[in-house]
Amino acid sequence: MPHHDDTSHGSDGEAFLSQFGKSNQQTEFYSPAPDGYVPGRTRFVAVFGTVMSGLGKGIFSASLAKLMKDKGLQVAPIKLEGYLNIDSGTLNPYRHGEVFVLDDGTECDMDLGTYERLLDQNLSRRNFCTSGQIYSEILERERRGGFLGRDVQMIPHVTGEVKHRLRTLAMTGGEGGKPADLVFIEVGGTVGDFENGFYIEALRELAFEEGPGSFCNVALTYILEPKTLGEQKSKAAQLGVKRLMEFGIQPNILALRADNPVTDSAMEKISMFSNVPLQRVFSMHDRESIYTIPEAMRAGGLDREVLSILDMHGAVDQVSEDDARDQWAGYARGIVSERRTPLTVGILGKYTALRDAYASIDKALEHAGTHLSAAINIQWLDVTDINVDNVESALAEHDLHAVIVPGGFGERGIEGKVASIKYVREQRIPFLGICLGFQMAVIEYARHMASMADANSTEFVADAKCAVISELPDQKEIEGLGGTMRLGGQDVLLSEHSLAKFLFRGDREVRERFRHRYEVEPEMIEQLEQAGLVFSGRHPIHPIMQIMELPGTAHPYFIGAQFHPELTSRPLNPQPMFMGLIAAGILRADPERRDDPILRDWIMEPSSDSPQGGDPTHHVPSPCTG
Ligand code: GLN
Repeated sequence: MPHHDDTSHGSDGEAFLSQFGKSNQQTEFYSPAPDGYVPGRTRFVAVFGTVMSGLGKGIFSASLAKLMKDKGLQVAPIKLEGYLNIDSGTLNPYRHGEVFVLDDGTECDMDLGTYERLLDQNLSRRNFCTSGQIYSEILERERRGGFLGRDVQMIPHVTGEVKHRLRTLAMTGGEGGKPADLVFIEVGGTVGDFENGFYIEALRELAFEEGPGSFCNVALTYILEPKTLGEQKSKAAQLGVKRLMEFGIQPNILALRADNPVTDSAMEKISMFSNVPLQRVFSMHDRESIYTIPEAMRAGGLDREVLSILDMHGAVDQVSEDDARDQWAGYARGIVSERRTPLTVGILGKYTALRDAYASIDKALEHAGTHLSAAINIQWLDVTDINVDNVESALAEHDLHAVIVPGGFGERGIEGKVASIKYVREQRIPFLGICLGFQMAVIEYARHMASMADANSTEFVADAKCAVISELPDQKEIEGLGGTMRLGGQDVLLSEHSLAKFLFRGDREVRERFRHRYEVEPEMIEQLEQAGLVFSGRHPIHPIMQIMELPGTAHPYFIGAQFHPELTSRPLNPQPMFMGLIAAGILRADPERRDDPILRDWIMEPSSDSPQGGDPTHHVPSPCTG
């Protein structure tokens, strides 16, 4: 691994830390560092937003981090979130976007998904920090008497906790727990918000303590272009950057968000007013796809300027960078290729009004579509409008090539889902059910193919007589809704000759991410299988059903997962169940592609070897039908 000189920047930092490290009452310096911390070993890039939120700080920060990772550096991103929630577990996706789940079970902001996808790197709870976590840590320590009789203050104690976390991440946040060469810090919200002020102060202190050359501050700001004036105005951006400077932070780089390329005149003005040389002011105008941003940054020289500011040119691994660039360029070309088959994928959900609520599904479809040459048009269908009587016309009008029923909670819209899944199964439309969508597919099959007309989930009918989906035994013990689910990465054992095993390239066990409270009722498994349903992915030890499918003789592609396959899909490493769905969808849309070798890799020919379950025409009496 390339290595920069560990000590060249450490001298100031070490001197500072030798005083700050003392947490006793004799000194006003309070900045506890984790044991073994080497000041100056890791450099930091902090990204602040000014003028307004929604500028894409996460995408900016993730793209820059990717450029640095491509150079062979270990990078560790972190999001500092202003709100008081401990995590995103109880947030409504309709207001806040989807809840992203990490392998260690952390429920976090959807920006962490952007980081994982762009960096192709698994993150953990250390990469996500909320004000709630910081305050609760401080208050618990205060009750334990951990502050040795001192009054506990925003500065230095709260800021000290923030710095401690950032340094811990620096020591362990690289891949496989290695030390990071670079920590990317995204400060949530906008500079001047009441709730993120202490983060900004903590970063000012950290930059001071770590010493000159250890920090690169980036201000992301917005250039207005009012239609009535027809020209770009930089005043709001200037004022925003000034606001950051009032906190004692001098930006090193300005990234100007705008609808159109920023004019020289606007760049010069803002450079002058914020003490940032013109070659460090960048136009970050809107692009066709976020995946073209890293290359656009590189073309503008942004990565080189960051390396100069942090004195890291010597650490670059050119071979690694060239390889990574080639791979990425191939992917980015595929996204806009003219040769793609147009494909309509229906997503049946409750929150379809907001794309952000299903951000990772949207991305996973893009990944699979790009690899298989499909231009995917998503039809967001509000399932609350669908019922048994109108399902045919509601779905037929869109000429869907594939359908996804995504995850969700609560009773609203579930009968519409059952009706839609029945239609999709009978019409042989390729189908992927995710989490709640998987459970609904089991319920639909039980009702219409296994003579359990009243089949239901105890999530919707607490005392359902025919509960094919019921609460996980562990969950029955827990009260309340905050943090009580089966969360995070779990192994899934795949059955021989199944579609699942075919898609996962013959792996016996795969690891996927879960977020659920209910599961297939173990007592119903036998009846369901006898009626023809195949449970092809299970927990390696417990009777938890994790993948269901129909045999290829019954349906071209009908599969469901108790986990969330969309969370592990990456641009260069698309998730297999999405690949299978899109491949089957392409065959439906354009049968002439049947011999296309990339498709053949993802289409399993029906075979008598595959697990058949039982015979759907032979109805066994079930406990529900009595
Ligand atoms: N509501 C279902 C459960 O808790 C499904 C959850 C989900 O789709 N994430 O099991």
